[in-house]
Parts: sequence; C-alpha cells; structure tokens
Amino acid sequence: MKRFTFPGGTHPEEHKSITAGKPITEAKASNKVIVPLTQHTGSPAKPIVEKGDRVKIGTKIGELTGFISANIHSPVSGEIEKIDLYLHPGGGEVLSVFIANDGTDKWENSSDRDINSFSAKDIIDIVKEAGIVGLGGAAFPTYVKLSPPRGKSYQTLIMNGSECEPYLTCDDRLMIEKPEEILLGGMLIARAIGVERCVIAIEENKPDAIREMEKLVRNYGFELAVLKTKYPEGAEKQLIWAITGREVPSGGLPIDVGVCVQNVGTALAVYEAVRFDKPLIERAVTVTGAVKNPSNFKVRIGTSFKQLIDDAGGYLGEAGKLIAGGPMMGIAQYSDEVPIVKGTTGILIQKKEESIPPLQTPCIRCGRCVDVCPMRLLPTRILAFIENDDFSTAKELGVLDCIECGCCEYVCPARRPLIHNFKLAKVRVGK
Ligand code: SF4
Ligand code: SF4
Repeated sequence: MKRFTFPGGTHPEEHKSITAGKPITEAKASNKVIVPLTQHTGSPAKPIVEKGDRVKIGTKIGELTGFISANIHSPVSGEIEKIDLYLHPGGGEVLSVFIANDGTDKWENSSDRDINSFSAKDIIDIVKEAGIVGLGGAAFPTYVKLSPPRGKSYQTLIMNGSECEPYLTCDDRLMIEKPEEILLGGMLIARAIGVERCVIAIEENKPDAIREMEKLVRNYGFELAVLKTKYPEGAEKQLIWAITGREVPSGGLPIDVGVCVQNVGTALAVYEAVRFDKPLIERAVTVTGAVKNPSNFKVRIGTSFKQLIDDAGGYLGEAGKLIAGGPMMGIAQYSDEVPIVKGTTGILIQKKEESIPPLQTPCIRCGRCVDVCPMRLLPTRILAFIENDDFSTAKELGVLDCIECGCCEYVCPARRPLIHNFKLAKVRVGK
C-alpha cells in the first residue's frame, strides 16, 4: 500500500506503547467541575446562568458571541456555585462556571434520531448548537469550518487520524473502539459540506486502527490513506500536502485548496450530536509519562488535571514538568488544578531529570533546523533577526507561517530557543 508523506519533519521518540494498549475508560465525574467560557479559538462564550441555578448534563451555560465562538454546556447535573476567573491550561485566568455536581447525572435532552433525516443545514446547525470544536487540540469551532465563505467550496474531506504528537494515543484508541461511529460522523460532515471524496488518514504506527478502518471504509464511501510515521504528519497543511499534493498558500486556509480537515474525535462528537442530541461535554484524554498507571480516559470537561492524574494512579516519583498535550506542541502548566477543556488531548508528566532546561550555546550554523522545517522556513535566520529586535524582517522571512511544530528546536544541537521567539514575534507583528 502507498505511504503518504510531506517534505521536512522529524522523528521524535514516540513513547506511544505506554498507553496504546489501554482501552478508554470512563473517569468518574468529580464533585465540582470548573468550566471555562473560553475553550475555543475566537471570542469567549458569555455566561447565561447565575449562581444558584440548577443545571443538567447538557444544559447550555455559555452562549457563543460573534461568528468565531462556541457554545458551552454543563458536563454534570447540579447547581451553579459561582462564575469567576479561574486558571486555564492555555495560560492565565478566564471567566469560568463553577458547578457543584449533585451526582444524579440527569440529562437536559436525550433522544435517538435517524441521522439520515438531517439536511446539510440541519447538521451545521446541530454542530453549532452542540458547541463542537476541533478536538485535535486547535479547538477551532467546527460549524465555522463547515460553513465556507461565499464563492468557495470544498472538494475533499480528510479525516485526521494521524495523531503524530509523541505519547498521545486517545485518537488511536477511538479509532479502534468506535470506528463505525467515526465514519458515520465523517459521512455527516461530508453531507454538510457537499464533498464526494472522503479520506481517512492514519499513521502507519497504528496498525490496529488501520485494520479496524480497513474493514469498514468502503461501506461508508471513504478511502483509507496510510501515512508514513513522521512528525508533524497530522498538521493540517502537511496532511493536505501528503494526501492531495496541494499546498495551502502562505496566509491562506485549507478552504483555499478545497480541503476540509477534521479530527477523528471531532467526527465522533458530530455523530453523537446529530444522533443523540448530545452537546460536547466530554472527550478522550491520554494521561501518560510519570504516573503509576498511564491510561486513556473519557472525561467530563471541567474535571481537574489533578483528579485525572489521581485516576491514573497518581504521580510516579517527583514530577518535574506537567504538560497539557504532548512534548512537541503541549503547554507547560504551573498547577495541576487547571481544568480539562475541549482542546485537551493529553496530560504528560515528565520526571524531574527529564525536565531540566537544556544548556543553550551559540548557533553553529549546522542547518538542521532548515532541513526539518515542514513550512520550508529558515528558522536560524528568522531567530537572528528576532534576537536583534528586527521583527519586520522576521515577518518578511515568513514567521507568520510558522506552525509552531517544534521540529527546529527538537533537532537543534545548540538548543536555541526558537519556538519561544517565534511566538513572541507573531505577537509583535500582530498575529
Ligand atoms: S539547528 Fe540550531 S545550531 Fe543548527 S543552524 Fe539551526 S539554530 Fe543554528
Ligand atoms: S520554524 Fe516553525 S514551522 Fe518551521 S520547524 Fe520551526 S516551529 Fe516548525
């Protein structure tokens, strides 16, 4: 079978075997959940509940504001304790809804509907109402992606099952455990955007998921594309290049080349929303690294990292670094009291000895960062201009096209702080 791939990239140690064989188990809902009103790209949702209000699972508690935003729903039944600022795994504090769980698990709505009875518009409306966002980590509101601007249209849907970030296996497990539901979700997305060509793309390091999908894809009108195992194979632009040979233009979006990319977990959420009228109140999360029992969980949004770490047996030895996501694109955390949000793909705990900051030395102009950059940028040159406060030249050299994949920094023998500076430059030049 042909193996698809893209230019550049690197091969970090995978560490996926730690949890790849661990089925997804349901984490117990905690007595209190703290649900941020910002869990997505775009503007925060506005609270529509008050202290003392009773809610059920799926009650809408935050309403989207503006075109790029997402609704937020209660993940438990219980009572609103307060609405206040609280820690967010993306950094800083955001307005959040504190809910005391009454433990009764009553749902706001529950139904079992014929998914074939819904039109494209119905599907997009359901996805919007359900607060579904991209579950691969970017958390872009899905209904916006399903609504191309006037004059543009999609020709291809790519379901992203590559999960190229080291350590994470929750998408792999979803594809093994829920392949039919994922493909049905993909069919609904394809109907919503009116495409004929549907591809599910999986890295070759997930043989069980490939086997499960291989059995089913034809029944649902999908092609199966096996990707070479290489990081960042699952990045949107790299995936599009690998499957279609099309290049998303600088500053452009996948719609510019007629491709819609959706994570497999997102497809499952779309299926559950359309069939069961279920909003996005939980997701699959990998808890791995220095914990006693690394695991995959289905967990309610708003559960604390700490509780999930305890569910995974607790810390193994002295923790050095706590990361939301994986080691390449994840975000280091100051506290394990932060809540799981819609974009939390994993929790990685590194041991103290793994998290010692590397000794930085001057650039030796080896060019390795240039060889691996999947966006074909010149990381070493861009960094030199940023270090001289010349942000406009950094912009001319394409810093805004950097996808922050971390390949350059991973291979740099001098351990130069490339990503940190590229993020800084993006803020300085207005992204
Ligand atoms: S990899 Fe590091 S040392 Fe080599 S050219 Fe790039 S920044 Fe310089
Ligand atoms: S410059 Fe950006 S896109 Fe290129 S390797 Fe570095 S982080 Fe990735």
